[in-house]
Amino acid sequence: MPLVRYRKVVLLGYRSVGKTSLAHQFIDGEFLECYDPTVESTYNKMLSMGKDEFHLQLVDTAGQDEYTILPHSFIIGIHGYVLVYSVTSLKSFQVVKSLHSKLHESRGKTRMPVVLVGNKADLSLESRQVKTDEGRKLADSWGAVFLESSAKENQMTQGIFTKIIEEIDRVDNSYGEQ
Ligand code: GDP
Repeated sequence: MPLVRYRKVVLLGYRSVGKTSLAHQFIDGEFLECYDPTVESTYNKMLSMGKDEFHLQLVDTAGQDEYTILPHSFIIGIHGYVLVYSVTSLKSFQVVKSLHSKLHESRGKTRMPVVLVGNKADLSLESRQVKTDEGRKLADSWGAVFLESSAKENQMTQGIFTKIIEEIDRVDNSYGEQ
């Protein structure tokens, strides 16, 4: 029997960027046009990656802005973060910057596993407010993984969550290297 490793990951970002849609595509494999604004939901999924088994607990949050005070439950016992913005909202891009710096501060400036996601990549170029390159540069400056996704077209919706699990292992294993 393979060892099952438990990983708790939080989805954070401004409201309406598609956090619930991404979680729903990942867990149930479908996209609904309309969701009630999420209060907070937790999903559980077992994942096999190579010869490893993971129990992923995913916390979908209500959405934050620059003024949000992050609760302890988003800091303590959390292995990794998926920070989501919408490529059609510059405001949501500013919010992920602010969230990252708050998390970094609260976690004592230790390295933390992060996947930065630019969602709604299916929408037309005219409605874009954040270029792919800007997202990549921001993730690079954090030492994080960068992906663009579409919950609507089911692009990268599995990749986001396998990446965060890989990133948690990578950051864990690199402690002590410096
Ligand atoms: P949340 O508040 O961040 O959880 O965002 P939701 O998942 O509730 O999505 C907000 C709105 O954006 C909903 O109307 C979704 O149908 C829509 N939406 C979410 N993801 C995508 C996407 O990848 N592409 C498009 N075109 N719309 C999306």
